Amino acid sequence: MVSRVIPVDPFDLVIVGATGDLAMRKILPALYRRFRAGQIPPEARVIGAARTEMDTAGWRAEVASALGEGPERDAFLARLDYVVLDAEGETGWDALAATCRPDVLRAFYFSVDPHLFAPLAKRVERHGLAAAGTRVVVEKPFGHDLASARALNAALAEHFHEDQVYRIDHYLGKETVQNLMAVRFGNTLFEPLWNAQYVDHIQITVAETVGVAGRAEYYDRAGAMRDMVQNHIMQLLCLIAMEPPARFEAHAVRDEKLKVIRALDPVEPGNIVRGQYRGDGAVPGYREDVGQPQSRTESFVALKANVSNWRWAGTPFYLRTGKRLRARSSEIAIVFKDAPHSIFGTEAGRHSNVLAIQLQPNEGMTLDVTIKEPGPGGMRLLDVPLDMTFAETLGPDAEEIPDAYERLIMDVIRGNQTLFMRDDEVEAAWAWTDPVIAGWQERGKAPAPYDIGSSGPVDSLMLMHRDGRRWREIDP
Ligand code: NAP
Repeated sequence: MVSRVIPVDPFDLVIVGATGDLAMRKILPALYRRFRAGQIPPEARVIGAARTEMDTAGWRAEVASALGEGPERDAFLARLDYVVLDAEGETGWDALAATCRPDVLRAFYFSVDPHLFAPLAKRVERHGLAAAGTRVVVEKPFGHDLASARALNAALAEHFHEDQVYRIDHYLGKETVQNLMAVRFGNTLFEPLWNAQYVDHIQITVAETVGVAGRAEYYDRAGAMRDMVQNHIMQLLCLIAMEPPARFEAHAVRDEKLKVIRALDPVEPGNIVRGQYRGDGAVPGYREDVGQPQSRTESFVALKANVSNWRWAGTPFYLRTGKRLRARSSEIAIVFKDAPHSIFGTEAGRHSNVLAIQLQPNEGMTLDVTIKEPGPGGMRLLDVPLDMTFAETLGPDAEEIPDAYERLIMDVIRGNQTLFMRDDEVEAAWAWTDPVIAGWQERGKAPAPYDIGSSGPVDSLMLMHRDGRRWREIDP
């Protein structure tokens, strides 16, 4: 089965922050792969911009070494230009204006620290670079709390219409996240069961093995709640919990996600556990990693959330994320209720169907179904995972599935905002998160220590045990 590649229109994409880590590691490799796939037409151009003094040849050489050898690399590099530009000063703006083509779709990727979003937006408009169809892509973190997110939204809104703003959450660009929507809304099988009557609970885990190295200063100000829960995990929760939108279209989907966030109950202090990894002699602990011996920032958080609406009342969503855990694994698990009555007697044990969606390290989807253990040994039941990724059916092309950044950047060019967060969604997510963090600050309690390579603090296990449930193993 060969996937279709429909070329996008020619464009000028200006990457501000062109010398940075994200540009080199994610954005440019993603563009290169789409170019190789034939999705980016030869008339498209990528204009790198940053303060570092260099010329186009210099930037092309840096990009070449970031990309490594590969087919059609020189043709891709020939599409690149570089402009020395200061987001906070006037350097380079005339040169940029002279480089951008007037009659071609234009997009800006603000791959810089968020404090530069407002000065950039202002200068893009002031220098006549913000035509009606111009798009602006902004990276996370989008705000530190509700007030700062509002200020960022207001600063962007001064110069751009909301339909021009693309707030990236790369979790939403993952193939499996979209497959989740296809499975949910493309089949009659799941949707009738997708509610509190049939779903016992939902677990969302984003586990990492890495610590905070390289991002220590930022992370110690943010913590797991801001860095992961408010954005990525909240977005995943929304896709699971939302009502079917009337159409798979940006406003319809985002309206439904917003309703979910607004239906979230405030989290009670007893329903949330914070943790911080401690050193084990060989590997430094969190406080050493951030160089703050007294730090009370959480590197782990687990919580029980309730979506108070007709569909979900009584079905909790357990969310957890942490660093330096036993494996790198991101997974959503929809755990269905046990069959109401077992005709096989108590010795057959308890069995429940689980739809598990893996996002990291590999993407995939399995449905645990109960079958008879083969053989003459009587009616013994067995849970087996049904692979719903269908790698065999899709054939070798399945390996060519674009990564999240490839898909999202192409969506920007196509003008499709479905997988990007809208201003009101981001603000609602902060409005839910802020009181949780304020509560911690008021109580001033230190996070519970946990061992490197573990599944987090013991208290997080208790969060489930006391409800008669347990977390799924964090497996790679
Ligand atoms: P970075 O490596 O520090 O790069 C920052 C870029 O901004 C550099 O190219 C820098 O180039 C440029 N820059 C700084 N001040 C500037 C100014 N006044 N005018 C023009 N350019 C300026 O940061 P990054 O890791 O690439 O991250 C970029 C953004 O993506 C941040 O918002 C970050 O939070 C977000 N993000 C990054 C990652 C990641 O994996 N790296 C993941 C998620 C989100 P010059 O010094 O040459 O100006």
